[in-house]
Amino acid sequence: MSEYDVDLFVIGAGSGGVRAARMAAGLGLRVAIAESQYLGGTCVNVGCVPKKLFVYASHFREDFAAAKGFGWSVSEPQFDWSRLLAQKNREIHRLQGIYEGLLVNSGVQVITGQAQIIDDHTVVIGERHFHCGRILIATGAQPSVPDIPGKEFVVTSNEMFALETLPERILIVGGGYIAVEFAGIMHGLGVKTTLSYRGDKLLRGFDDDVRDFVAQEMVKKGIDIRLNTEISCIEQNASGFVAHTNQGQTIKADLVLYATGRRPNTAGLRLEELGVEMEASGAVKVDRHYQTSIPSIYALGDVANRYNLTPVATAEAMAFVSQCYTNQPTFVDYDNIPTAVFSQPNIGTVGLTESEARKRHPEIDIYRSVFTPMKHTLSGLGEKTLMKMVVNRNNDKVLGLHMVGADAGEIIQGMAVAIRAGATKAVFDSTIGIHPTAAEEFVTMR
Ligand code: FAD
Ligand code: NDP
Repeated sequence: MSEYDVDLFVIGAGSGGVRAARMAAGLGLRVAIAESQYLGGTCVNVGCVPKKLFVYASHFREDFAAAKGFGWSVSEPQFDWSRLLAQKNREIHRLQGIYEGLLVNSGVQVITGQAQIIDDHTVVIGERHFHCGRILIATGAQPSVPDIPGKEFVVTSNEMFALETLPERILIVGGGYIAVEFAGIMHGLGVKTTLSYRGDKLLRGFDDDVRDFVAQEMVKKGIDIRLNTEISCIEQNASGFVAHTNQGQTIKADLVLYATGRRPNTAGLRLEELGVEMEASGAVKVDRHYQTSIPSIYALGDVANRYNLTPVATAEAMAFVSQCYTNQPTFVDYDNIPTAVFSQPNIGTVGLTESEARKRHPEIDIYRSVFTPMKHTLSGLGEKTLMKMVVNRNNDKVLGLHMVGADAGEIIQGMAVAIRAGATKAVFDSTIGIHPTAAEEFVTMR
């Protein structure tokens, strides 16, 4: 008889937690998982999934406009926000059911409630105590809003998925993934959109050409982007909100969205009392085995704050289970993680940016192409596509691929396989293109 009630207790049923619990249960371990809010976590409920559904919804405005160039007559389209919300909620509800089914059918004990860790091997939820062989913290992160006067008037991405009505004017603060994605969504749904960012280029960390190009395309579509702009306070008045900037501007809006980053969810877990070491960012400090400073306690996904993406959280979960419970341990390779920003147009990227490549390699070659994709020769929308390839001149290896254009995420996912396989520029050049596509540009760049 084991001295423990469960072999593994997972805290948080999001992307990482669910995957770890299911995999461990599949190996015959006794597993419990606690969830305080919603099965599926951020990605399913207030992240990737509803966001992408909103991106699709918002793109129809341009699709209707583009249709005229192809001979269609379209009467004035009408949009019903409450219908979109109801449809979105129905889909999320369906996915929550699927997650529950996956867990229960794998034999995982699912517990609803806020979990606390009271000692190295004990988790408490309400009155229930669980003595656990290992504890995995997979509690994700939550939006973080800076402390400015008027902070109480702003919403975060969480609330954007349940707005009762769409505003006429929105101010979005931030220049990262969420700010850029919601700027496209809101603009596409007909909301007058202003994006305010403190830096001189959106999307820090992305290739500089991508950053410039996506901002130009967003401005062309009608989004008001204010760079080098810091909000000092927000006031409410009879007609909405007024944001004052340190640069002496005022920006009026009916809704203010702060998309200024996320902080790891550790409040209430009692980690400091237990002596679990934390990073300065508030993330749980882990080693390459996802083990914290207390050997029986592990952490992964957004709460460990490395690459805060769903496929990374699930990959870490699989690595964690393989390392702790099998004799075939796997490790996550954090190089060349592809990512997409579902901006309009989309961004897809994998590998090194030009500036990173210049720092690491003495000689690099850059191939860049900006063109009007075939659809937009007749759409009348004027949208352009950027594709860029970064190559190590010494060994011909492709170090990075970057794209801004329709379906960039879909295209770059395939290209990421080639980069991981170590493809050279010569391999790209000898690959036959698929014509006529935008993607063929990657194999015809000279
Ligand atoms: P989460 O999915 O956040 O799950 C953590 C769970 O733990 C939550 O359900 C929470 O309720 C629960 N919890 C917290 N504390 C406790 C406790 N004490 N007891 C019990 N339960 C607890 N990533 C992509 O790859 N692609 C995208 O397109 C994308 N879009 C995004 C859009 C938005 C608006 C946001 C906010 C994020 C997006 N992400 C995207 C990021 C992605 O959602 C996260 O990286 C991913 O969800 C992290 O998974 P996780 O398991 O670490 O945490
Ligand atoms: P990001 O870290 O991507 O961006 C945060 C933005 O807020 C940055 O532009 C940052 O500026 C700015 N900022 C931070 N603090 C302040 C402040 N005090 N005042 C003003 N501006 C500030 O975070 P997001 O919230 O956009 O998204 C969180 C994470 O979720 C992403 O990093 C990503 O990992 C994940 N995600 C992934 C998506 C996808 O895969 N498509 C979509 C959405 C989210 P600066 O750059 O100058 O620091």
